[in-house]
Amino acid sequence: MVVAQDKVVLIHYTLTNDTGKVLDSSSGGEPLAYIHGQGNLVSGLEKALEGKQAGDKLNVDIAPADGYGVRDPALVQRVPMRAFGNAKNVKPGMQFQAQSSEGKQQVVTVTGIQGDMVTVDANHPLAGENLHFDVEIADIREASQEELEHGHVHGPGGHHHHD
Ligand code: ZN
Repeated sequence: MVVAQDKVVLIHYTLTNDTGKVLDSSSGGEPLAYIHGQGNLVSGLEKALEGKQAGDKLNVDIAPADGYGVRDPALVQRVPMRAFGNAKNVKPGMQFQAQSSEGKQQVVTVTGIQGDMVTVDANHPLAGENLHFDVEIADIREASQEELEHGHVHGPGGHHHHD
């Protein structure tokens, strides 16, 4: 079996940036389980995994456009502190759910505070970064009908439903 549309794929991975800093890793834990071809991984990584087999190891270098996107300066905004309502001690690095001008829910990160004004950035924290994935494919299997309906994997490496 090879990695293809709608297969459940389990991978061990380590993600580093251009400076070699580890940003994320499954090392020491369960492999990550995802359904292939549904946009659950960044597009550059899905493309690289297509057609590979269990046991394959690969190093994938991904440009921002195929990763978490190019940074968009228009997504950096200054808003008054009172927009945060009851949130106390707003600090750089904090993340909030916010609504974009098109009414879409998005996560914004506080990047600075100047007096009563807060700078928030709605870019993905890894936007603009080259991504380097070190991947080993642990397993590939068929997805169940239920998994395809839910759009995520059940069991090891995936979601655990209580009912
Ligand atoms: Zn589910």
